[in-house]
Amino acid sequence: MNKQRNPGESNNGGGSGWLDMISMAIRTPVFDHHRAIYTNRTMRFGQIDAVGFDFDHTLAIYNNEALDALAGKLVADRLVEHEGIPREWLEGLPDLSFAKKALILDIDEGVILKTDRYGHVLRAYRGKKKLTVSEKRRLYGDRDIIPHVTDGDRFIQVDHAFSRPEILLWTALVDHTEAGERRTVWEKIRKHTDTIHRDGSLKSVITADPQKFIFQDPRTEALLNHLRDCGKKVFLLTNSEWEYTQAMMNTVLGRDASRGDEWLDLFDLVVAEGGKPTYFNPAAGRTAKPGIHEKVLLGGNLTEIEECIGCTGPEILYVGDHIYADLISSKRNVYWRTMLVVPELEDEMVVQSAMPGLVRQLREVDERRITTEREVMHWKAVEACLQSIEGVVDEERNGVKKLRLECHDARKNASDTLKAFIRQREELRSKLSTATNEYWGSLFRAGNELTHFGRQLEDYACAYTSRATNLLFYPAGHYFRSTMDYLPHELESM
Ligand SMILES: [Mg+2]
Repeated sequence: MNKQRNPGESNNGGGSGWLDMISMAIRTPVFDHHRAIYTNRTMRFGQIDAVGFDFDHTLAIYNNEALDALAGKLVADRLVEHEGIPREWLEGLPDLSFAKKALILDIDEGVILKTDRYGHVLRAYRGKKKLTVSEKRRLYGDRDIIPHVTDGDRFIQVDHAFSRPEILLWTALVDHTEAGERRTVWEKIRKHTDTIHRDGSLKSVITADPQKFIFQDPRTEALLNHLRDCGKKVFLLTNSEWEYTQAMMNTVLGRDASRGDEWLDLFDLVVAEGGKPTYFNPAAGRTAKPGIHEKVLLGGNLTEIEECIGCTGPEILYVGDHIYADLISSKRNVYWRTMLVVPELEDEMVVQSAMPGLVRQLREVDERRITTEREVMHWKAVEACLQSIEGVVDEERNGVKKLRLECHDARKNASDTLKAFIRQREELRSKLSTATNEYWGSLFRAGNELTHFGRQLEDYACAYTSRATNLLFYPAGHYFRSTMDYLPHELESM
């Protein structure tokens, strides 16, 4: 299992405080690609007048192991107490790396899926058992699984970092559940998960000991100051309640709790209880209630943010970790620029860096496979053509026979080479995939294609990065330039 990285840990062989800060700041993202910001759509940072941040899993970096253990226990207790589920069914959960972001649940069949961008099922588990190719084919055939689009609510994409305990509990329970009952079991887990988030039972434990659940990143405060020093407005837009945000923010910033709400000085505006994704829809008609401080609003809709900070549309960059609530819904309703925080990006890049040359080798083998595949098709076509020749006169017969033999040998050689490339490619892929995540492989890639999540990332995130604080490495006028997007025919002529 990949160990979660503590963002507060120095990568520079020691140092702390101002020295650590300067040391980090002088390392340009060109060289530290794990911490770079990657751009899908070109963005001039100088034209961004306001930067907004989500709170949970964006500014607030949770210790996932501690948080998931707590949430899992609270939900398990409720399932035992309120639903009569035997305690032993909820023991022996898979490890945390099984519950990956962006998996798709088939709640009728009790199956967890990973699909490519077209919805083709790549991997699937029912409970803890990995489905074979024939089992996958029997269940899904060649159909495309697109969550939120097909079969009503049968397929659900799990986007939320808070959802990991639900996946682990459901995986454990599916093994004890008959077909036809799995949707009900999932709905019970959902109901009790919502309850522990809503009734304060989860948050009261976290706020009682915030340091146990938060990894402090000393760069967070430096980033907020840096943005405001550059003349940009800074706001917070979170779904969390004001009381929770207030109780946690000092810990997130590495400040002493006795400093109360001084942290508000770092922001131009704070919106708590935002209710995203509805927040991004002005037509929903929600209006904000004033908070306890002049800078704080509770609920409302995005036009109130735009009015308060005096910026609109593409002048605003919003940074969040939830692909749907933070990015897709804002992109569909307004024209704010978006940046997705994906901690898994850094994990995957670290794995790739530890296997130098493997990704390049994989690409080279794949390119040679494609060329050899064409060669095999060519020889097959020529062979078929030679076989179809009829009425050969005696003096030509030997010549045709010789050609057929040459063609057969060439096709066989190419086929053998192709098989070797395919085998080599699968070995390399499997090595990389297992090192990334032994159950699911990469969050972004599924074989030759992007995953469903990878496609959403490409479509809705103007930029993406592993931590919000990576913005600190970029000057206020930086030009985030997207890489050239090529169609297959353009690649062919390179
Ligand atoms: Mg969040």
